[in-house]
Formats: sequence, C-alpha cells, structure tokens
Amino acid sequence: MYDIAIIGAGVTGAAIARELSKYDFRIIVLDRENDISCGTSKANSAIIHAGYDAEENTLMAKLNVEGNAMFDRLCEELDVPFRRNGSLVVAFDDEQLVHIKKLMQRGINNGVPALSILSQEELLKREPALNPEAKGALLAESAGIIDPMLLTISMMESAVKNGVHYRLNFDIESIKNKGGVYILESGGDEIEAKYVINAAGVFADKVHNMAAKPSFKIKPRRGQYFLLDKIDGNIVNSVVFPCPTKMGKGTLVTPTVHTNLLIGPSSDDLDDPEDLSTTDELLEKARIGAKLLVPKLTTRNSIRTFAGMRAEPDAGDFIIREAEGAPGFFDAAGIKSPGLTAAPAVALYMVEIMKKSGIAFTAKKNFNPLVKRKLFIDMSESAQSALIRGNPLYGRIICRCENITEGDIVDSIRRSPGATTVDGVKRRCRAGMGRCQGGFCGPRVQEIISRELNKPLEEVVLEKKHSYILTGKTK
Ligand SMILES: Cc1cc2nc3c(=O)[nH]c(=O)nc-3n(C[C@H](O)[C@H](O)[C@H](O)COP(=O)(O)OP(=O)(O)OC[C@H]3O[C@@H](n4cnc5c(N)ncnc54)[C@H](O)[C@@H]3O)c2cc1C
Repeated sequence: MYDIAIIGAGVTGAAIARELSKYDFRIIVLDRENDISCGTSKANSAIIHAGYDAEENTLMAKLNVEGNAMFDRLCEELDVPFRRNGSLVVAFDDEQLVHIKKLMQRGINNGVPALSILSQEELLKREPALNPEAKGALLAESAGIIDPMLLTISMMESAVKNGVHYRLNFDIESIKNKGGVYILESGGDEIEAKYVINAAGVFADKVHNMAAKPSFKIKPRRGQYFLLDKIDGNIVNSVVFPCPTKMGKGTLVTPTVHTNLLIGPSSDDLDDPEDLSTTDELLEKARIGAKLLVPKLTTRNSIRTFAGMRAEPDAGDFIIREAEGAPGFFDAAGIKSPGLTAAPAVALYMVEIMKKSGIAFTAKKNFNPLVKRKLFIDMSESAQSALIRGNPLYGRIICRCENITEGDIVDSIRRSPGATTVDGVKRRCRAGMGRCQGGFCGPRVQEIISRELNKPLEEVVLEKKHSYILTGKTK
C-alpha cells in the first residue's frame, strides 16, 4: 500500500510528486496515458506569466506570483531551458491605455515585481516589428518562456530519482474508501493508498466525483496555435499580448525557448475535453489577431498547428483543498492558465494543506534536487569529441533539423520515466520538433525505440495508445 497516490502526470501532478518526494512517504503517480505530460501540459503557450492577469486575492494570483519567482532555481536544478524575456500587453487606443494601467495596478497589488508602462517610442524601440499604431504597452520584466513538456518530464524524473513510483496506462475508473484506505481501480487492477491527490486536469471533476460528492465542474476550452519555423523566431523578442477580453488573454505572439515563433491561442468552448483538432476558422482568427500586433507576420513558415485544452473551473479560481466528506482526498483542480507558472507553488500549497489536515511530514535527509540532461548539440566541441569516443551513437545525427544524435535518442528512452513513443522521444530531446516535423527522422526514431525496447516495429506508436504508424509488413 502507498501513503500517497497522485492522479495525473501533468505539470501539477509532477510538481506535487517532486515536492512530496522531499519527505518520507511511499508515493505513486498514476496516469491514464502512456507517457508523462500528455494532457494540457503538453500544449499551451509555454509562458511563465508575471501575475498581473489574475484577479486580486485569488489563489490563482497568489500562486502565479509565487510560482514565477521559483523558476530560476527550479530550471537550474532540472536543466530545463527557461528565459525571462518579459511580456508586453499592447494598447492601441486611449481605452486600452487605461486598461493596461489597471492591469499594472492589479499586478502591483498581486505583488508582481518590475512592471512599467512603455511609451510608443520605448515600445517600438524594444519591438521594432510591432504595429506602429500601438500607443504603448505594459511591460512585465519577470515574465518568461519555457519548454513545458521538458519541465513536466524533468520534475517527474526528479521525483522518481527520489523514490516516487509511477504507473502509466492506468485510467482510474472508480475510487472506493475501505476502512480509511482509498482503492483506485483501473480495468480490474487496483492500487491502495492512504491519501489521494487529484491532479487530473480537464477530468478533475470526474475524478473528484468518484470519491466525494460533486462540488465543482470543469469546462473544456480549447486553444489553437500555429508554430512557425525558426527563421521567424526573432520577429519579436518578448511575449506580446493584445489587451485581454473576458474570453482570455487574446492571440499572442511569442518566441519559444527553442527559437521558433508561436501564434495563438484561440478560445473555443467545447463539450468534448479530448477534441484537440484544429479548425481553419479559428486558426484564421488567430492569424488575423497576430497580424494586428505584428503586421509583417505571415503563417507561410508554419511548421505545425496544434491545440490544447483549458480546464475552466465553474467558480473561476483554482480549487486546491481537501474534499468535503472525503478525508485524505485532496483536489488540485481547475488548474487553468497560469497553471504552468503556478505549478511549483501549487505543490508547496498542497504540502501546507496536507500538513494542516494532520498528516505528519518527515523530511528526507538525502533528497537530491538535480536532474542533468544535455543534448549533444548544446555541448562544447571537446565535450562532443569525448562523448563520441566513448559512445559512437553520439556521432550519428538522426534528426537533421534539430541536430539530435542517436545517442540523445537512446538516452531519452533509457531515462526514467523514459520515452516509449515517437512523440515521447520528441518531447525529451526534440528529435522531430524541427522544420520537417519528423518527416525524415520519424522512421529512424521508430527503429531505435523498437531496438531499445525490444518491441516489434509495428507496435511502436506515434503518441497515444493506438496511434499506430505501421499496419504490418508488405514483404
Ligand atoms: C491553450 C492554453 C494555453 C495555456 N498557456 C499557459 C501559459 O502560457 N502559462 C501558464 O502558466 N499556463 C498556461 N496554460 C495552463 C496550463 O497549461 C495548465 O494549467 C497546466 O498544464 C495544467 O496541468 P495539469 O497537470 O493540472 O493538467 P494536465 O496536464 O492535463 O494533466 C492531467 C493528467 O491527468 C491524467 N488523468 C486524467 N484523468 C485521469 C484518470 N481518470 N486516471 C488517470 N489519469 C488521469 C491525464 O491523462 C493528464 O496527464 C494554458 C493552457 C491552455 C489550454
């Protein structure tokens, strides 16, 4: 039996698992998918928000600002690329100028550091490609950009290094409480735990209702994006937002931490939380929104479109508490944006709540905060030569767009939790992330996974359980 079972291996579950791995508990993370970071945490704007956007005195505002401040140390410990490039909210008329001043005041009330209003001249000096009709902008210097998938994977790796277990393909269908022990059931298989943490993203209301009486609803809201090739990656330097509306922060334009350019997201309410399709109509709206900010922008160099699903809580704020009538069952639900930013602070807050509920915490003496990962391409020439001498797999480039070697791919499969799918490799070492989007390297990656995991080639999937690439042998 485990002390704690965490449902969901997204950024929230992974951050909580890592935080709890600092203490003497037997912990397991469970996820219905076949890899870490397969839910909302894999498809979002990848921004570490400053914290002026959330309403004052909400949990969201508090954890956004606290989370943001934790990223320098966290990313250093976990070897995750992160850049504080600042964000801008651009105003185009007097009404919007008033609005950005209100946002700045809200930010100050929330405790956001380094906020200022830029004049038109200052703005265009900082971002020469911006629409010259812009009148000014709110600058938040503490905002940044990150690789959200690598962050989630690295936090899970850190948790696992510190003793946390994990089980994938474990889709929890029912939760029972027998004599104070929770029994989590998936396809006839059971896992027992004294305490449960629900970090199930868009499904958090359903998971909550398996253990406690219904008390909130999660509404799926999709966001669609264009990812542009690196040749467009430096059109803007900062994260650039228009003035927000009640549907969200609007279409943004931002460089990614891997020097691509991201445009989006749309905001479409849906009934199906798993519908991650993209639509011409909403992508076109995003394209028009982005062009308003940066007129010379075209989507001619788009290398991919994709969608992510927001978990909109009916009460508006994050729901992080012990469920009423279900002692020992804790929700981390309604974690919509800025959930990526807030994740490390959500984890600390969860620890506080668990302590308050009477759970005894004993700190481990040997917690190791470090996860090391370095791709061949990011090493010095002498380190590269030494690596190839020791392991010739590093001398064979597989992904030519991103310069990823066979050694990097094998490493991402052998780590724990390691990649077992073509997209799992992509999320860990960027093979297939470049201009050809795996058109050339995909089959090679598939062969390497097949060899490393001793699996027939036809059984290696692209991403989800049945996403087969090959149907069988022709000869
Ligand atoms: C379009 C968009 C843009 C965003 N942009 C930003 C941004 O720029 N900055 C920011 O801070 N935040 C942003 N966010 C929000 C952020 O992405 C989310 O808050 C965060 O990823 C939520 O993480 P999570 O771990 O709570 O959920 P998820 O990542 O969805 O993880 C939940 C996990 O639970 C698993 N699960 C669900 N049900 C079960 C079950 N029954 N049994 C087992 N496992 C189960 C799922 O498989 C999934 O892996 C954005 C979100 C969207 C959609």
